[in-house]
Amino acid sequence: MIGIWVLGTQLSLDQSAVKSCENQKEKTNVILIESQEYAKQRRYHQQKLVLVWSAMRHFSETLKEEGWKVNYETATDFLTPLKAWVKENQITELRVMTPNDRSVSNFIKNLDLACEIVLFPDNHFLWSTEAFQQWTTNRKRILLEDFYREGRKRFKVLVEDNKPIGGKWNYDQENRKPPKKNLNPPSPLNFPPDSITTEVIETVKSLSFPTYGEIDNFNWGVTREDAKNVLSHFIETNLPNFGTYQDAMVTGENTLWHSLISPYINLGLLHPLEVIKAVENAYYKQDLPLNSVEGLIRQVLGWREFLHGIYHWVDVDYGQGNWFNHTQPLPHFFWDSRETDLNCLKQVLQQVENTGYAHHIQRLMILSNFALIVGVSPQELKDWFHAAFIDAYDWVMETNVIGMGQFADGGVFASKPYASSANYVNKMSDYCADCCYNPKHRSQGDACPFNFFYWDFIARQRDRLQSLGRMNLVLANLRKIDADELAQIQGLADNWRDQHCP
Ligand code: FAD
Repeated sequence: MIGIWVLGTQLSLDQSAVKSCENQKEKTNVILIESQEYAKQRRYHQQKLVLVWSAMRHFSETLKEEGWKVNYETATDFLTPLKAWVKENQITELRVMTPNDRSVSNFIKNLDLACEIVLFPDNHFLWSTEAFQQWTTNRKRILLEDFYREGRKRFKVLVEDNKPIGGKWNYDQENRKPPKKNLNPPSPLNFPPDSITTEVIETVKSLSFPTYGEIDNFNWGVTREDAKNVLSHFIETNLPNFGTYQDAMVTGENTLWHSLISPYINLGLLHPLEVIKAVENAYYKQDLPLNSVEGLIRQVLGWREFLHGIYHWVDVDYGQGNWFNHTQPLPHFFWDSRETDLNCLKQVLQQVENTGYAHHIQRLMILSNFALIVGVSPQELKDWFHAAFIDAYDWVMETNVIGMGQFADGGVFASKPYASSANYVNKMSDYCADCCYNPKHRSQGDACPFNFFYWDFIARQRDRLQSLGRMNLVLANLRKIDADELAQIQGLADNWRDQHCP
């Protein structure tokens, strides 16, 4: 008898292990396991636990409807139910689609089971690990833009005769508009919990180990049908404006024109190619603005595939990187938004507590940027991101937090760190208007911490930054700050750290 173990991030009928037995369902047993032991290993957002467990339970029902024999186990660990199931069903070969997280993959390879274990290639990405490795061979630079253009040609997306539709590969310059007053973004779809989700919510509420975030606002889809509706809703209502306000941040508007599809693609409920093709088709049929269409496709075909490829390409200790040698503990208010008086951080942290979601610029330029300029340990920050976000997994954390956000890899794929002062926050959001700090001050008593930390960071790290070349203008501006003011700035930064990074 063949057995298939479907993991919580592999919820698709087309995933390779399930597909391999499509014509022999009667000789196959499928198992899904909810493990509380696994959920205890780190804190998780309560809504993430609900999403994953409810989606697994729904997928188990889908498998049964499709004629598969399915065991759904709720257990403390993975091994106990696996062993019992292998024995009871006389499984001789266990098939698993290769998990995209390294530690889970190693765990499965080393399982002590009375059957053969066969890993199938992960088909939830467009680029296989091998294809990505090949692409990097003999390449002087590993740049998203080069990878993305290759992806457009390889998968024939928005191209004609290998040339980009519209004449340009990239319309990013048009996708950085600050928010205007009275923007009116569409609301996300509503997903009232059904009986399965309600049961999972009760289970999660009763857990005895520490979690993070609020559970009562749970409003995520939990089935493939829901995920397809999110995608259609996005294309119909959000896509026309997606590009223009992609980087904007507005108080009380958690999602603006973003797609909210990351939780679903990461669980296997949507396939990236399906997303890309749906968006491309909408461009041809509905005459949508190219900056929005290309912008979304660059995120999925470009960034998502690129960072997944990087995760499997770099050394296994990549996650331990700390190029700036940052060792400050994470300020406690990351775990409790009520404890900060910086309005931008409060707004974004509150939103994450309530939903598990923040859009890219909120993650990069508010949360990660602040930790970077304060000098927080990249690993502590990564652990927090992993706990807090609805769509967090190891592969996407390491590359986005350690690499993109903290530059802790010393620039494997980025040429300079994403560090900025309050100037950027003030331009791209309305947060500063309601803040007790002054975004224009850097050394006075009411100076915004983004400002004194920014200059403290540039001064502390000037030698390393000098070596990057692209920071010369900023370093020249640092030299224009007189010694007394710089000492004041550094004093403010030290005092703040003493109070908030115990
Ligand atoms: P949209 O803005 O609508 O973009 C569409 C899709 O593009 C996303 O759903 C996602 O699948 C893909 N995408 C865009 N950028 C990236 C990227 N940098 N890496 C991977 N996929 C990308 N993404 C996660 O899926 N999980 C995470 O835990 C995560 N953590 C992040 C942490 C930091 C510090 C940063 C800077 C980025 C992180 N991202 C993460 C990437 C990105 O911010 C999210 O994918 C995106 O905000 C999800 O919201 P959305 O679906 O509305 O995205």
